[in-house]
Amino acid sequence: MGLIRDPNFLEPRTKNACFGALQELERLGIKYYINETLRKKSVQGCYWLQGRVDLDVVNLFRSDVGLWPLSQSENSRTITQTIRSKHLDGKAIDVVPMKDNSPWWNAPIEEYQKIADVMKKYGFEWGGDWKEFKDSPHYQIKE
Ligand SMILES: [Zn+2]
Repeated sequence: MGLIRDPNFLEPRTKNACFGALQELERLGIKYYINETLRKKSVQGCYWLQGRVDLDVVNLFRSDVGLWPLSQSENSRTITQTIRSKHLDGKAIDVVPMKDNSPWWNAPIEEYQKIADVMKKYGFEWGGDWKEFKDSPHYQIKE
């Protein structure tokens, strides 16, 4: 098992905020896909290795934690700047717009913004607002 998608694994305050926001998204008819909630340290380690070491090394560690192998092009860039993500404490969630019942990763920013407007109302900081390293699917609870 690699990714944990169930919001029930979040820490209590984040979980409550999350369920409030998800209910509102449903009321508004905004389709969303939860890609990840709580993250194991070993998974964060794999994310950190991506784009920093050779593909065979990345995929060796990924297979050990139940993540699918990456392609060379996926390993040509870094995807995280930290090994201390809020996901490790159960205080972050990644939410992607949906289209035709599939996650819409490359949706226009307006689609991500619709979700962000609701999530922010419930106390989340949006990775799409970050200046340095924008992370449009990412939300973390404000401390
Ligand atoms: Zn995230």
